Amino acid sequence: MAKQDYYELLGVEKTATDVEIKKAYRALAMKYHPDRNPGDKEAELKFKEVTEAYEILKDGQKRAAYDRYGHAAFSQGAGAGGFGGGFGGFNFDFGGNAGGFGSIFEDIFSEFMGGAAGRGRAQQSAGRRGADIRYDLEITLEEAFAGLKKEIEIQTAVQCDECGGSGTEKGSKAETCDMCHGTGRVRRQAGFFIEERPCPTCHGTGQVIKNPCKKCKGTGKVSQKKTLEINIPAGIDSDNRMRLSGQGEAGANGGPNGDLYIFVHVKPHPIFKRDGADLHCDIPVSMTTAALGGTIEIPCIDGTKEKVTVSAGTQTGEEVRLRKKGMSVLQSKSVGDLFVRFKVETPTKLTAKQKELLKQFDAESADNSPESAGFFEKLKDMLKKAG
Ligand SMILES: [Zn+2]
Ligand SMILES: [Zn+2]
Repeated sequence: MAKQDYYELLGVEKTATDVEIKKAYRALAMKYHPDRNPGDKEAELKFKEVTEAYEILKDGQKRAAYDRYGHAAFSQGAGAGGFGGGFGGFNFDFGGNAGGFGSIFEDIFSEFMGGAAGRGRAQQSAGRRGADIRYDLEITLEEAFAGLKKEIEIQTAVQCDECGGSGTEKGSKAETCDMCHGTGRVRRQAGFFIEERPCPTCHGTGQVIKNPCKKCKGTGKVSQKKTLEINIPAGIDSDNRMRLSGQGEAGANGGPNGDLYIFVHVKPHPIFKRDGADLHCDIPVSMTTAALGGTIEIPCIDGTKEKVTVSAGTQTGEEVRLRKKGMSVLQSKSVGDLFVRFKVETPTKLTAKQKELLKQFDAESADNSPESAGFFEKLKDMLKKAG
């Protein structure tokens, strides 16, 4: 089935502005959202299609690539994984609300839902969002290939269990700040102007704690080690960053938790070099195997071994391609290829007998090396011209 044009899907002109594109997507996403069409497969498909179209067209760079190359610009690995796969190498979220669409939902739907209700809430309590945490995780290439479950330990600020995050000692309550009368802001005449700033006494919360909780010293938070089990998906690369929503530091005054960002670093591998989905390796081949031909066994990233045929007369730099023996692709079932490059090794420690045999071989084969014969011809020409 041919893929429909992204602009047609959203019902906008090719010249549409970002605002027009967003507006069109918003209307369609509301119409086809799975929550509004339970069990309706067609609506679900439509929803995925328009979301995919929007994902591309909202991004200046991706839109330019699409305008130029069409769907081919994003076809890498899009097959088996269906939507959500595809766009190799961009950051993705997991543990989020709707699988692959996490970030888009935050963009768009927080705006829908946010509206009046959201703002009202923000004004009632000066809840502050907790800080985000960064965690750097180093994994091997084998682990990146297969994916892994890993327990990590993070030092984070969690809500104080003694006071439930209020920061006040049991039996007491926070009191309205005298300085700002609970508004959290103070105003001051500065020449002709009135300057407004957060209240220095209550730090903008509008409340002061006269009897702070002993455990958290009134902050409502305590530092704690937290153990989390995380799932690193197969095919992850060093450019990828994972977000675990709400796993950052606790918020203050009822504010939401921050997020935990996991920065993945894939360690260099002693044998394989990664190039997106493909792997490359150099395999040494003895001089005799290269000349006579043979087979060698090669270890693969998936733990299996592959027999590779070395054809007679193999030169250094010649390559064979083992299909589907490369890396797994993020959010997709496809697998890249392995490119094996031969490196012919010249023996260094020869026995007297080997030397003798090679001398005999040399006497036998004076004109048997096409490359060097050609080279010496050229050299002679050069010397003649120079002469
Ligand atoms: Zn105050
Ligand atoms: Zn406390």
